Amino acid sequence: MRTHPAWANATRLDLPGRVVAPALVNAHTHLDLTHIGPRPFGDGGFSAWIDMVRSGRLVEDDAIAESTRQGVAMLHKGGTVAVGDIVGTVNGAPSLAPVRVLDGAGVLGTAFLEFFALSEDGSPGVDLALERAGDIQPQTIGLGLQPHAPYSASPRAYRRARERGLPMCTHLAESMAERQVVAEGAGPMRDMLAGWGLWTDGVAALFGQGRSPVRHLADYLECLLVVHLNDLSDADIELLANAGSRVAYCPRSSAYFGADAVFGPHRYRDLLAAGVPVALGTDSVINLPQNSVDTRGICVLDEARLLLERDGTEPGVLLEMLYAHGPAAVGLPSGAFRMDAGAELAGLIAVEAGDADQARGLVASVGPISFL
Ligand SMILES: [Zn+2]
Repeated sequence: MRTHPAWANATRLDLPGRVVAPALVNAHTHLDLTHIGPRPFGDGGFSAWIDMVRSGRLVEDDAIAESTRQGVAMLHKGGTVAVGDIVGTVNGAPSLAPVRVLDGAGVLGTAFLEFFALSEDGSPGVDLALERAGDIQPQTIGLGLQPHAPYSASPRAYRRARERGLPMCTHLAESMAERQVVAEGAGPMRDMLAGWGLWTDGVAALFGQGRSPVRHLADYLECLLVVHLNDLSDADIELLANAGSRVAYCPRSSAYFGADAVFGPHRYRDLLAAGVPVALGTDSVINLPQNSVDTRGICVLDEARLLLERDGTEPGVLLEMLYAHGPAAVGLPSGAFRMDAGAELAGLIAVEAGDADQARGLVASVGPISFL
């Protein structure tokens, strides 16, 4: 600090019992769902949950913008300055209202325009998303594309999106229903798609070849930020490592959907050991506990604390997930999130330490977060 040109005029702050750290990066969330608020995961399973989100999704740009503004306030409450935000689709094409809110709102990172494109060639979903991406040039936040998931976007939709050269994100290997529909062309996800009139012969031909969701997208892994990965075999991990994929893991989302009861413990430590960078995200506010939202809004430190307490993961590993892999996942230099001499930090936060050790004190903290 003494080498900084502003040192001579610096004001000294005494923050006893607090740990000071760089501001946070949330690698995966859905800010335009903030108006729905935390909700329990009901008895109807994943399909009923998706119906709830679909019916709760706003359609007017003004209302979508307001929900996103609430989401930005919740990010800031959680000491967060950068995000991988998923911009939802309305009437077949992503609304640009969230991008306009994020641009210049003190939030860095990437806004991924989400689309659904299950037809064999991806039309019209991918065409509409590409058109929207061409309609806007945000200044302070980057633009990306998100084919929703392998059960809602065809492989050719991924290929056509990749041709645009924007950063790309997708939900992958999240549920047993996803595994069933991809590998066997069967199960509740197939029934849900059939109920929406989307299960045509062409769509059926995309699936049922015994592949895992990760293998199903093997040709696109190199350009994807893949989100969730609850369902992972050793072969899947090898595919991800060889492709150079980046991962966003949302621990409380996986726990909320009971993924560990189906697939066993999440394999984020195996991914890290294989050299795959794993960042932390929260997913939407819907799957977060009300009390943590009340205290810290939408906050990845609460995700890190779950891994510390549940898995005994070393604080140093968690800091690397937060401050090295997090920025990289959303297209930012990690130097803006490291307290090195001469660093141009994206932000600085303080929180009451949860332990005398500084690294553990940060990830074990539970109290409100303030910006310095
Ligand atoms: Zn998501």
